[in-house]
Amino acid sequence: MKLILLGAPGAGKGTVAKLLTQLDGSVQISTGDILRGAVQAGSELGKQAEAFMKAGDLVPDELIMGIMEQRLQEPDCAKGFLLDGFPRTIPQAEALKELLKNIGVDLDFAVEIDVPREVILDRLTTRRTCVDCGAIYNVKSMPTKVEGVCDKCGGSVVQRDDETEAAISNRLDVYNDKTAPLVDFYKNENMLLTVSATASDVVVNAIQERLGG
Ligand code: ADP
Ligand code: ZN
Repeated sequence: MKLILLGAPGAGKGTVAKLLTQLDGSVQISTGDILRGAVQAGSELGKQAEAFMKAGDLVPDELIMGIMEQRLQEPDCAKGFLLDGFPRTIPQAEALKELLKNIGVDLDFAVEIDVPREVILDRLTTRRTCVDCGAIYNVKSMPTKVEGVCDKCGGSVVQRDDETEAAISNRLDVYNDKTAPLVDFYKNENMLLTVSATASDVVVNAIQERLGG
């Protein structure tokens, strides 16, 4: 499957993407994970992206398109991919459309995961992330077995820099201004599936149904 996952920060894009990869071997491509990896590695990309990310602002479109142009042409994408956190602006959506046309790839559709704002806020403030493998936990609903230690890899599990209250509120504003318009963009392309659900398995089922199985 070749899907775009849209939704506010904390809507569950990453969780849904991980569940979908288990169905048919499609790969999850999270621009947030790629960027956090670059920051941690101290690469040139990481240096350019770091300050934007910390403030909860978007990284410039040209940087993101550079990453995605390469990533989408790697061989593991042939099986399918789940775009998690990309595109995030109308220019990115337009550039993606052009890129896919050039490399001869057809998307199935874009999924809007629609979750109430209260749920989003609660999730983001209680979310914790493994700095080594990116695994996501929640202090209330999915704590690690040992506090601060990743169950999967033993790495340290922390609150992200951009998960302070100020940065979260900025990320939600940025989502409403810059990313929410993509819902209409994909609606106009006749490519939108909206699922209003907080449970990831419900979202996955709706996607499978639309895919026809
Ligand atoms: P979220 O949990 O908010 O959806 P992500 O992990 O997807 O967060 O992204 C974290 C940060 O990385 C964003 O706040 C932004 O600074 C940057 N980022 C990720 N994807 C993009 C993108 N497609 N365009 C611009 N910036 C991005
Ligand atoms: Zn880990």
